[in-house]
Amino acid sequence: MTAAIVWFRNDLRLHDNPALDAALSSGQPVIPVFIRPPHDTQKWSPGAASRWWLHHSLTSLAAELNRRQSRLIIRTGSPHDVLHQLLAETDADSIYWNRRYEPDGIATDTTIKRQLHSDGYTVESFSGNLLFEPWTVETKQGKPYQVFTPFWKACQSRSVADPIELDDMEFPAPRNWPLSETIDSLKLLPRITWDAGFYDRWRPGRQGAMQALATFLETTIAGYHERRDFPAITGTSSLSPHLHFGEIGLCEIWHAVHERHKTPATLTQGEITFLAELGWREFAHHVLYHFPQISEKPLREKFLKFPWVNDAERFRAWKAGRTGYPIVDAGMRELWTTGWMHNRVRMIVGSFLTKHLLISWQQGARWFWETLVDADLANNTLGWQWISGCGPDAAPYFRIFNPVTQGEKFDPEGEYVKRWIPELRSLPTKWIHHPWNAPQEVLAASDVSLGESYPLPIVDHREARARALAAFAEVKG
Ligand SMILES: Cc1cc2nc3c(=O)[nH]c(=O)nc-3n(C[C@H](O)[C@H](O)[C@H](O)COP(=O)(O)OP(=O)(O)OC[C@H]3O[C@@H](n4cnc5c(N)ncnc54)[C@H](O)[C@@H]3O)c2cc1C
Repeated sequence: MTAAIVWFRNDLRLHDNPALDAALSSGQPVIPVFIRPPHDTQKWSPGAASRWWLHHSLTSLAAELNRRQSRLIIRTGSPHDVLHQLLAETDADSIYWNRRYEPDGIATDTTIKRQLHSDGYTVESFSGNLLFEPWTVETKQGKPYQVFTPFWKACQSRSVADPIELDDMEFPAPRNWPLSETIDSLKLLPRITWDAGFYDRWRPGRQGAMQALATFLETTIAGYHERRDFPAITGTSSLSPHLHFGEIGLCEIWHAVHERHKTPATLTQGEITFLAELGWREFAHHVLYHFPQISEKPLREKFLKFPWVNDAERFRAWKAGRTGYPIVDAGMRELWTTGWMHNRVRMIVGSFLTKHLLISWQQGARWFWETLVDADLANNTLGWQWISGCGPDAAPYFRIFNPVTQGEKFDPEGEYVKRWIPELRSLPTKWIHHPWNAPQEVLAASDVSLGESYPLPIVDHREARARALAAFAEVKG
């Protein structure tokens, strides 16, 4: 009997997985496969933090498959070559996968599909990573949306597919299993012990994803609309890496929220706000699909001429969380330690980099790409273009966050700053967001020596603001 290959990518789950469901429904033995392309063949090969997540997520998926008497076949190489080898080595004559929407992924999949079809194989792809396919949501003029609110309104008038149930069954196995590399042999874990904090914060894999969703629905979603902007508290879902790696399906989350009510009209404000954030994810992916150049170039072309500054020293200070602005530094250190940063703080550090330091959003996006466990080409690109004013539905460039007032507003007790910047822990709350204004005796009593134990600001807010506005004036119009 012929077999079916299921090619897993950023959909590392067995439940609500349309490609897997179709392969199982075909009645054929199923060969689950994960392919790791050589690192240097991809422009956006996963960064170090994402590789850490991937290692553990693959381990979890492989264990789940083992429980169903199946196996995850791991191979390194160009997907095209590996799939051909597997077709030659096994009885498989068909390949199933869930579609991806990043430019390189689309190009690879299109080429492979064309070649396999012409070689006589069956190749089927499915929608498993978004609520709606990007080409199905468009304006009345048949154009892609570039503004979030009408986009989300259009999405909400459509219905989201029911999640696909999976029985507790064993998966039919092929007569012979092809050889597999081990997950360890992919060498995804960091060589330096930088990931210790990741283990405390995260539980990659399906069980971790379901646990995060359950906890969020039980304890957090009710106050989400009011608490989501405060980085010191658990006000958000922490689902982003689980979503990026597809350990949980969007439709599963969507329906889990709706099932709490009899009708959509009775959704609470927290739930409505949360679903709209999933809407931003959707928007980001649709925009990247329609404007594939934006991971490298600004959507608003006038920003091509923006006079970005090449300042290696200040960029280093930003990355290390040593800018002298506590809310910025706390965010950058949270990122380094846990592989994640709160959304409000991502906006503050992004604004600081692109406006106070005039360092390009592309440099910031690359650092996030390397250090975020949820690094996602669509969301990261949208986030950076939005905060630097050059993307779709972006905040205007001239709206420049003041890191002191942002800190005072969103971390009023300084708890977040104190958590991530131990050298400021004893400083009274009054000065926590602007230690340089504190009287010398207060600093001394708090064991803070500015310029030594904690840096002085690397730029003056007012001067930086004026410089940013002058730079913006060069491209305005
Ligand atoms: C400069 C910048 C870079 C960013 N880079 C990424 C990234 O690489 N990967 C990533 O997943 N998110 C990114 N975001 C968006 C957002 O910060 C994270 O999705 C969010 O902080 C994840 O935490 P959570 O799961 O607790 O979010 P929740 O508030 O619980 O939101 C639920 C889900 O909605 C989606 N979501 C929420 N906010 C956004 C948003 N603004 N844009 C797109 N999707 C959103 C995410 O999938 C998130 O998991 C970025 C934002 C900025 C400003």
